[in-house]
Amino acid sequence: MKTALLWFRRDLRLVDNPALVAALADGAVLPVYILDEGPEVRPAGAASLWWLNRSLAALSADLEARGSRLILRRGDPARLIPEIADQAGAASVHWNDLYDPGLRERDDRLETRLSAAGLAVGRWNGAHLLRPDEVRTRTGGAFSVFTPFWRAARPGIGAPERTEPPERLPAPAGWPASDTLEAWGLQPTAPDWSTGFRDWSPGEAGARQRLAAFLARGLNGYGRARDFPAEPGVSRLSPHLHFGEISPFALWRGAQNAVERGAAPEADAEKFLAELGWREFNAAICSRGTDLARTSFDPRFEAVAWRRDPAALAAWRQGRTGYPIVDAGLRELWTTGWMHNRVRMICASFLAKHLFIDWREGEAWFWDTLVDADHASNAGNWQWVAGSGADAAPYFRIFSPMAQGAKFDPDGRYVRKWVPEIARLPDRWLHAPWTAPPMVLDQAGVGLGRTYPAPIVDHDFARARALEAYAVVKGR
Ligand code: FAD
Repeated sequence: MKTALLWFRRDLRLVDNPALVAALADGAVLPVYILDEGPEVRPAGAASLWWLNRSLAALSADLEARGSRLILRRGDPARLIPEIADQAGAASVHWNDLYDPGLRERDDRLETRLSAAGLAVGRWNGAHLLRPDEVRTRTGGAFSVFTPFWRAARPGIGAPERTEPPERLPAPAGWPASDTLEAWGLQPTAPDWSTGFRDWSPGEAGARQRLAAFLARGLNGYGRARDFPAEPGVSRLSPHLHFGEISPFALWRGAQNAVERGAAPEADAEKFLAELGWREFNAAICSRGTDLARTSFDPRFEAVAWRRDPAALAAWRQGRTGYPIVDAGLRELWTTGWMHNRVRMICASFLAKHLFIDWREGEAWFWDTLVDADHASNAGNWQWVAGSGADAAPYFRIFSPMAQGAKFDPDGRYVRKWVPEIARLPDRWLHAPWTAPPMVLDQAGVGLGRTYPAPIVDHDFARARALEAYAVVKGR
């Protein structure tokens, strides 16, 4: 029987995995995961590595339960994949494509090299509803605005049938050498900052459970509840999707089934699917080749003179800006590795517009601390907030953290959870403690500048400063 090397990447699942289906059709399957240290790859952040560690452990266990194994190696896949394929005498190599900057070109070179050595190469789409370069304007160009992109993409998205792995995966004649997961040291120790990550269940089974829970309780009402961070109104599937523990098609089918069963209104399902659409849109923009974590999509924004302010940046990272909704978000991020979308927008806007610090600093912090850190979605959304992205929020629209807090956390449940030192303030002052009369602060046990920071920048001053500094992009 011939052997097919199956290169796992961000598709750490056995169900709905097109590369696995193709490898099985070739014969025995040799599953390989490489901790990618190639020069094209942006090193993963610490929270992502925490997740990866558990996700790989889960995948290994799932493979072992099917009489197979996961071979682990670290280094440059451009060298390691041909080497392992050669050692194992593989006749073919299969993988699901990725579109981060530089990867497609690297994979093209790898494909050429493997083909030249006589191996069959299968490259599949396991990460997206559509290949990012598949959605085109009538004239064959790429979209830069979400709504027409989604209008063009939506009808072309079908839901392929779910594919299940067999009970036993045919094993190759011999197993090549493998590292151990423990030797990679991905789990933080001294200090272990991951104790607040305990509610996550990385791995395919955890992903499926989370989707089932969301379809049972969260999809109905999603269109409204998704903006309220204290409510269980979103799926929290983003890290599972990023690591490919579940296919976006499983979400697609699940949402459509819920509508057919009458468990959720069509409008909620459409809204949810449109959010998956933003994931597709960001991937499509990213696949054009510019590294959007470094370079503004709209080149006019390269002229913006950001401020350097290490103390303000540190206060922002630590959730000590004196603006409660901003501090709550950054503390949620540090503690759990995730932050609610509405609050991501508020915190990102605060860094770029109130502090006028380069959005790249914030993007890098999110990259290190998010369990769902994703090159396309993180850079794309940061640029959306800063005004420089594709179809971005206009630079002159500046969120008021107080108004956002009052609107989306009206009873203060979210802020009280993450900023307990002001929890006893009445709702009326919770989102702007500095406006509370001294007696109210006293009664709530709040000492501004002592128990909780005074605002690190005045809102009106910051707004005017940002508008003036951003004016450089006008007329360019
Ligand atoms: P749900 O509301 O349940 O949405 C379902 C899925 O749709 C998400 O899991 C996600 O895959 C996708 N999605 C939803 N909103 C967006 C969006 N705006 N852009 C792209 N995809 C979206 N998302 C990431 O996956 N990785 C990131 O690194 C990331 N960085 C972000 C940085 C900033 C500054 C902002 C404003 C947003 C960022 N997002 C990122 C998008 C969004 O905040 C998260 O996808 C969402 O909060 C994940 O929670 P959820 O799974 O409960 O989302």
